[in-house]
Amino acid sequence: MKKVKKFIHRKTLIYKTGVEYGDYTLNHVLGCSHGCLYPCYAYLQKKRFHSVDNYEDWCEPALVENTLELLDKELPKYKSKIEILHLCFTTDPFMYQYQEIQALTLSIIEKVNMAGVRCRVLTKGVLPFELASFSRSNEYGITLVSTSESFRKRIEPGAAPWKKRVDALYALHKNGSKTWVSIEPYPTPNIQRQNLQELLKTINFVDRIIFGRMNYSKAVSEYEGYKQFFHEKALEVIDFCKRESIQFHIKEGTMMDQCE
Ligand code: SF4
Repeated sequence: MKKVKKFIHRKTLIYKTGVEYGDYTLNHVLGCSHGCLYPCYAYLQKKRFHSVDNYEDWCEPALVENTLELLDKELPKYKSKIEILHLCFTTDPFMYQYQEIQALTLSIIEKVNMAGVRCRVLTKGVLPFELASFSRSNEYGITLVSTSESFRKRIEPGAAPWKKRVDALYALHKNGSKTWVSIEPYPTPNIQRQNLQELLKTINFVDRIIFGRMNYSKAVSEYEGYKQFFHEKALEVIDFCKRESIQFHIKEGTMMDQCE
């Protein structure tokens, strides 16, 4: 287990996000020990606006120490407006091996559900089984862009091993929770040569799949025919989801007719 070494104080917490499938969100941690090298859009933004100094600073998470007080203050104001509260957009709510972050995230979800608001969770950590006893209208998701541990160690160095993520998600599914997977940012073969069908088969139990291309990477644009590649992979996802009766969403800019 790892200890949180940095703490920060914030003035506000809940906000509406402009992200494609987002509604309201909150980020109760600054930084993320998963240290993804796709690169991570949240890291690029926080560095640009000087919230973190460098990659090492980003990978040392800072907990928002007044999170629960802010929630108590803001939930009455926002609860009627929120369709679903997303955890999180600029950090990971179940950062791998950080017990304090996990405990705070569980307290947040409990408070939010008690206010009658459901949560949508996304992590590259391990979803704790306690979530099974929370509101059945919550949605629990993992990001999974590869079923290669060598890819995970190279590109998502601090994240949980991919199999642990899937096993935890499956346990929640078996217990009746709604589950989903974000296959984003999907890599081109010059970054990782892999079989998408194998990945899809490992998650055929989920309720929803979101698929999106890798962005902000020089390697992607260096791959000849990358637009066609992402288009074909999106079609594979759509075909698989239709066959398995899984809901799906293809992120903007992933298919060619969306790019033009
Ligand atoms: S898990 Fe998400 S927030 Fe954390 S480094 Fe990776 S992409 Fe960024």
